[in-house]
Amino acid sequence: MKKHNFYAGPSILSEYTIKNTAEAIKDFAGTGLSILEVSHRSKEFVAVMDEAQQLVKELLDVPAGYQVLFLGGGASMQFCMVPYNLLKKKAAYLDTGTWASNAIKEARLFGEVDVVASSKDKNYTFIPKGFTVPEDADYFHYTTNNTIYGTELRHDPDVKVPLVADMSSDIFSRPVDVSKYDVIYAGAQKNLAPAGVTIVIVKEDALGNVDRAIPTMLDYRTHVKKGSMFNTPPVLPIYSALQTLRHYKELGGVEEMQRRDLAKAEMLYEAIDSSRMFVGTVAPEDRSIMNVCFVMKPEYDGLDKEFIDFASTKGIVGIKGHRSVGGFRASLYNALPLESVKVLVDAMKEFEKNH
Ligand code: PMP
Repeated sequence: MKKHNFYAGPSILSEYTIKNTAEAIKDFAGTGLSILEVSHRSKEFVAVMDEAQQLVKELLDVPAGYQVLFLGGGASMQFCMVPYNLLKKKAAYLDTGTWASNAIKEARLFGEVDVVASSKDKNYTFIPKGFTVPEDADYFHYTTNNTIYGTELRHDPDVKVPLVADMSSDIFSRPVDVSKYDVIYAGAQKNLAPAGVTIVIVKEDALGNVDRAIPTMLDYRTHVKKGSMFNTPPVLPIYSALQTLRHYKELGGVEEMQRRDLAKAEMLYEAIDSSRMFVGTVAPEDRSIMNVCFVMKPEYDGLDKEFIDFASTKGIVGIKGHRSVGGFRASLYNALPLESVKVLVDAMKEFEKNH
């Protein structure tokens, strides 16, 4: 039975991406070689890299003066690369969850960090508002979508300093005003490709302004200069990423992704809000359209495992909440069809009827 894949990451990829990747594993671009064994310097792979960079620019409407990089090291590596390259004296950070606080920890190694607001004392169930970003900060870092807690900031904030965002779990789910950012980064393993590559969109003018020496591999300029080919890039994830990017373009770009994602999230939140058994964990105005977090109401305590087992009989996988939140989390990334959300909603209703 085809599974309904709600995992938070690595997570569902489209059939288009998986099929084309599988074919390239057998024969890549008519080379008679597998994508697994081809040189990253072959003209066929250089073409893949070029097209992937071009499509990121096109889909996110990246203005001139920015470079698109495909790097290893995960989004977690960006937690240190960002301050290494951009933090002169002071940076502002918004603390909205585990990943944001991991980024804060790294930034503190490089200079003064002003945590402008935090929702930690409410277990990160909302996005702080009304905070002030100091005008003398080198940048303001925030996480657009908090994968673990299911909160999301779906607009590009208006502050007086350049933005830096971790968009790992919601990139390509909406249009972004890239001109407000010095750096946007995203690990691939949600809306793009298998794990192993991170997209970094970096403003060229933001580089070269710090005094410290930067190790070669951690210096964005190294990768800009060499077109993400300074060292061997993660060839297979980049190939898969290209498939996903082509697919997004064919489907109508990020506006169309946003339309689909909103419809899926609306269907699931509607079911949660009208349920006698389940309740959402997040302030409604900050709810993520990518990761929907919910729990059993206290009077049904102890039924979590039974529901997860019941859902699995319908082919539903990956809905167990993160260990720091508990309950359930349904991730509705771009590749997840509306049909899977319907199956989940029906399972919730049926389970509720039986209890
Ligand atoms: N940021 C966010 C928002 C994430 O969801 C994750 C993990 N899924 C990370 C950063 C860390 O990513 P990685 O495992 O690629 O380092």
